[in-house]
Amino acid sequence: QAKSSQGCTYHVFDERIHRSARSQADLESELRRALRRDELDLHYQPRLCLKTGNILGLEALVRWRHPERGLLTPNEFVPLAEESGLIVPLGYWVISRALRDMQWLRGRGLPPLHMAVNLSFRQFQDSQLLSTLNRLIQERGVDGRWLEFELTETAVMRRSDQVRKTMDALGQLGVRFSLDDFGTGFSSFVHLNSLPIALLKIDRSFVGGMHDRPENRQLVKAMIDLAHNLNLEVVAEGVETAEHLALLRLYGCHQAQGYWISRPLPLAELARFLVFGSHQALFSS
Ligand code: C2E
Ligand code: MG
Ligand code: MG
Ligand code: MG
Repeated sequence: QAKSSQGCTYHVFDERIHRSARSQADLESELRRALRRDELDLHYQPRLCLKTGNILGLEALVRWRHPERGLLTPNEFVPLAEESGLIVPLGYWVISRALRDMQWLRGRGLPPLHMAVNLSFRQFQDSQLLSTLNRLIQERGVDGRWLEFELTETAVMRRSDQVRKTMDALGQLGVRFSLDDFGTGFSSFVHLNSLPIALLKIDRSFVGGMHDRPENRQLVKAMIDLAHNLNLEVVAEGVETAEHLALLRLYGCHQAQGYWISRPLPLAELARFLVFGSHQALFSS
């Protein structure tokens, strides 16, 4: 994953390499503690249906309320969690919290929304994944069909026979899968067709360049057409302007996610956005 390797490169070239290695170890034990002390939090980013203007779903994005360093974003600790294996318990915490919050939103009379959770390859390899997920779904009383796992191309392409078995088993619980950051990794069309993937999420690097680069517009359009031809749902990430939204609608993209619609929000703010938000007005531009 580009993001995590960038993170590593930064540390390798850091002048204060010893200090950096030290703080890496510190961070790891702090992260362990954070899990116990409930310092993690989820923010939710809404996903807009480009046909109806309704919010259809949410993506859960983990945050760490670090007692000294403030609010940390995933790029600052998910790579470390992946390397150390802490991503497995962290990931279960994320799923459990997301399911809890889905019930909380339902309790406020809001219509049901799909909940997308990011899964690292490491979590996918965990032998307890199926049983733990099954238990969490039961405990929270959520129908698995509202749950979606976002996997990156690189995760899916590795050891694809094993990946496929896990996906099929999770699919029995109703869980859907999306291919995250589509276009940035290696995808083979064979895999796209043979794995039980329901959605493609076009990476924001393509969407962001649509204004000024005709090639980017062509790429985005081609990815949308591909999704249509393969009967996949298609979501554009990183929608930052009205122009992005208009082009995506023109190309027949199903859903959009990005700052133009909403930033990822803490639960209470999300609830306000869902009730009072003027996302329908985004269409009249
Ligand atoms: P991602 O799954 O591709 O998530 C989208 C990222 O793009 C989020 O960053 C989101 O805040 C950001 N974003 C959304 N709309 C816009 C926009 O319009 N413009 C721009 N510039 N950015 C936008 P975030 O929250 O920092 O997460 C980064 C990555 O960390 C995620 O990328 C995902 O790969 C990973 N991640 C987040 N939460 C989890 C988690 O619970 N577990 C695992 N394993 N990975 C996670
Ligand atoms: Mg994602
Ligand atoms: Mg993504
Ligand atoms: Mg991304």
